[in-house]
Amino acid sequence: MIHKTVDLRSDTVTQPTAAMRAAMLAAPLGDDVFGDDPSVNALQDKIAAMLGFEAALFMPTGTQSNLCAILAHCQRGDEYLVGQMAHCYRWEGGGAAVLGSVQPQPLNHQADGTLALADIEAAIKPDDAHFARTRLLALENTLGGKLLPFDYLQQATQLAKAKGLSRHLDGARLFNAAVAQAAQTGSDAFTEAARIAGCFDSVSVCFSKGLGAPIGSALCGSQGFIARAHRIRKMAGGGMRQAGMLAAAASHALDHHVERLAQDHALAQRLAGSLAGIEGVQVEVPQTNIVFVDLSGAAKAKSAGLLPHLAEQGIQATGLYRLRFVTHLDVDEAGIDQAAAAMRQFFKA
Ligand SMILES: *Cc1c(COP(=O)(O)O)cnc(C)c1O
Repeated sequence: MIHKTVDLRSDTVTQPTAAMRAAMLAAPLGDDVFGDDPSVNALQDKIAAMLGFEAALFMPTGTQSNLCAILAHCQRGDEYLVGQMAHCYRWEGGGAAVLGSVQPQPLNHQADGTLALADIEAAIKPDDAHFARTRLLALENTLGGKLLPFDYLQQATQLAKAKGLSRHLDGARLFNAAVAQAAQTGSDAFTEAARIAGCFDSVSVCFSKGLGAPIGSALCGSQGFIARAHRIRKMAGGGMRQAGMLAAAASHALDHHVERLAQDHALAQRLAGSLAGIEGVQVEVPQTNIVFVDLSGAAKAKSAGLLPHLAEQGIQATGLYRLRFVTHLDVDEAGIDQAAAAMRQFFKA
């Protein structure tokens, strides 16, 4: 039987839609290093206004966006408080330390993905020559597909502010968080995205994840902060020229691909539901678009053959640290059912 390939490795694998490609081709262009690419400027104005900030900067990647944020908030010898599993600590090659001499102070996550307020408070160093200067709290939402509770965001960022720290959000999947939060509050995703962003001094958003653009992130903050980040972006090699073609894709994604993230979340629920009850297979109920699967007992013992079996059945997934399936724009119900069937077949469930 011929299967189509269903790529569930990440929401970064999406291909630009025909409408997005048309928007890219039609984009008016300039040289953004001279600041005169109208499509880049329009995107920056749009995302800044949408999230309630004075300014924004288009970035090639989320990694560069977080790096510029940390280096714009901190000086050499400063430190940032960050979760053990946070992207801007664990998954960015140690960039803040390597390139900025900014030391991370990682904290363990609670089961819901938050950092305990008591842990944050205890990690803030006194003003003493022995210690790095604690300057920044960096949170991530969603974190591993988890929506951080809004009350918690308010409390953690108020605590940080009271202690004189800046607050940065790695919102690579901010709009997934906003869509999930909107489902709880009955509000809309744009309102919730702005409420979440409002807790922070800076926010980084990825267009290349669930929003379905081929490339790009934006860093948002005050005018002064973005001016500092702009200098660092140039230093990091992120000054791009006719980047308007990419900005146009991001802009199209903001116009057309935000509310539809709810479909990705529904597909993740569908997959989790279909995997529930397989012996030795634990599935976390997904809050957004990422399904984590843990194996135990006999299921774990045969797990070495799982990814090759899934690949044979046309299903691509990753097991870099945990088995993970991510839903996105280019997956449909049939693809999800194909993935669930391949899993059940492997575990003979
Ligand atoms: C993907 C991601 C980033 C940055 O990714 P790039 O691949 O550098 O664009 C940052 N933070 C989180 C939480 C991410 O998921």
